[in-house]
Amino acid sequence: MCGIVGYVGHRAAQPVLVNCLKRLEYRGYDSCGIALLGKDVEIYKDAIRIEALEKKLRPHINKAGIGHTRWATHGKPSQGNAHPHADCTGKIAVVHNGVIDNYLALREKLTQEGHKFRSDTDTEVIPHLIEKYFQGDLQEAVSKAIGDMSGSYAFVAIHSDWDGMVVARNESPLILGVGDKENLVASDVPAVLDYTDRVIYLEDGDIGVVTGDGVRCFRNGKQIDREVHRIPWSIEEAQKGGYAHFMIKEIHEQPRVIRNTYKGYISALEPVVNLGIRKDAGINDILFIACGTSYYAALVGQQVIQSLTQIPVRVEIASEFNYSDTVLGRTWVIVITQSGETADVMRALKKAKEVGCRTLAITNVVGSSATRLADETLYITAGPEICVAATKSFIAQLTMLYLMGLAWASGDIRSRVSMATELRQLPDKVQQLIDREEEIAAFGKYLAKYENVFFVGRGLNYPVALEGALKLKEISYIHAEGYPAGELKHGPFALLTPKTPVVAIAARDNTYDTLMANIKEIKARESPVLAIAEEGDIEIEKYVDFAVRVPKVSPIFSPIVNAVALQLLAYYTAKERGCSIDTPRNLAKSVTVE
Ligand code: GLU
Repeated sequence: MCGIVGYVGHRAAQPVLVNCLKRLEYRGYDSCGIALLGKDVEIYKDAIRIEALEKKLRPHINKAGIGHTRWATHGKPSQGNAHPHADCTGKIAVVHNGVIDNYLALREKLTQEGHKFRSDTDTEVIPHLIEKYFQGDLQEAVSKAIGDMSGSYAFVAIHSDWDGMVVARNESPLILGVGDKENLVASDVPAVLDYTDRVIYLEDGDIGVVTGDGVRCFRNGKQIDREVHRIPWSIEEAQKGGYAHFMIKEIHEQPRVIRNTYKGYISALEPVVNLGIRKDAGINDILFIACGTSYYAALVGQQVIQSLTQIPVRVEIASEFNYSDTVLGRTWVIVITQSGETADVMRALKKAKEVGCRTLAITNVVGSSATRLADETLYITAGPEICVAATKSFIAQLTMLYLMGLAWASGDIRSRVSMATELRQLPDKVQQLIDREEEIAAFGKYLAKYENVFFVGRGLNYPVALEGALKLKEISYIHAEGYPAGELKHGPFALLTPKTPVVAIAARDNTYDTLMANIKEIKARESPVLAIAEEGDIEIEKYVDFAVRVPKVSPIFSPIVNAVALQLLAYYTAKERGCSIDTPRNLAKSVTVE
């Protein structure tokens, strides 16, 4: 999920690895480490920043090594869980990004075969598998190890009896940096740009063999040619992967993020959801507690879970809950926090625990405070989010809330199976929408000239309207308000003029006709109306001035595509206004004060 690097060549590897890791720092991480290849493999690692690790290193002249910045997915950030991981002999070291889905079964088998594990990570099975298969040829051992593994990985392996590195990729990015008598490996281009601007993008299923003299790529045991690309970017540009801002990069990552979040919970063979967390029969109701964007995710989750499970669900803003007399009986308290550190949420969690409620945390950060306090945790697997305004973490939270609804649903199995099947198609739908971002960019340019915008929706898309308004105000500084569409006439109508555009989310559910009536009321006040409407909805054109088209999905999943459309709209509006999109004024990524 975070960063890997590897170097072999004519320079001392250690300073190169440290420098490459610093180039990946922008991605955020919780631990780091390096391994240097010599007669033995020497490993330095800890749950600290790279500068702190650098101070612990002793001078080394070894010409090859690997490095890692970790964004923990399995096992909390600690020295033992930091990468590189070694085998029993201490001759092999591996750095890995991604998640090995079947690591528990592999770990059990390897333990029976006498392997000793020292960490809680999924990664550690890789060096042990390589050890099991190594008979003098690291490439062969890696290829056999991969045969046993399922999941996502980009990894680099070294062995003290083998010259160079062997790398492999499946569903996690990995590039080779091609230099002059030196070659590199990295999860991302910026890591290598100080040494070379020539890179090879490995494909899923590729194995690479990297020595000081050259790089070779293999597929199914056969050597293949992979094109060498010249990278024309500066380091600063490269860190954003060629995107103008982290926000748009993170919006583009969302198809993968949805996939990563559901992957471990929906079996590939049978589309049913198993979260490993049971809905307790003794629970009377669920109370979601969250702040900001996570609160809006909870409002969607409330409707989804209530309708699928028939369990009553309430939602409260953490800072309000903390001073309220909310009745907590046999209530299951579920907190949602991207960082796992949000002060208001932590206080709410403590309050819930004090009165003996069962607690669950939904978060993006392994080992964060919320996970240590809550009885149970479900991780969204969004990876580090750099832009202050949340995008991919919101979509991952929604994905997790759908999974919870499906896992605990009481309805008939066929409809659950068909929903789980559709959930797996959402990454493609979101990709189709992202592919049409230029159309949305034009609407963003249009909105940029206004100072007040209303967002309206009904039912499941009312919270999406709230999130759309929040996104716009955070990054473009336009005053935006989200409302249930039926509520405008109870006050806000006084503000409607030709200078107050209204963004209306038109989902094809049981609220559609009433929403059209609301839009007519708005049009009678001469406000321009921009609809977020499903492809093929011709009807809407009679009512609105413009329509952003989103791919057709079942109504229950419409918040996902509608939210992505609103993220793009906010982004392009803010871009047109020349705003500081990734770091909006007065805001912080993780709010650790009450
Ligand atoms: N799943 C691995 C771990 O938790 C790798 C995480 C990463 O990609 O940084 O250690």
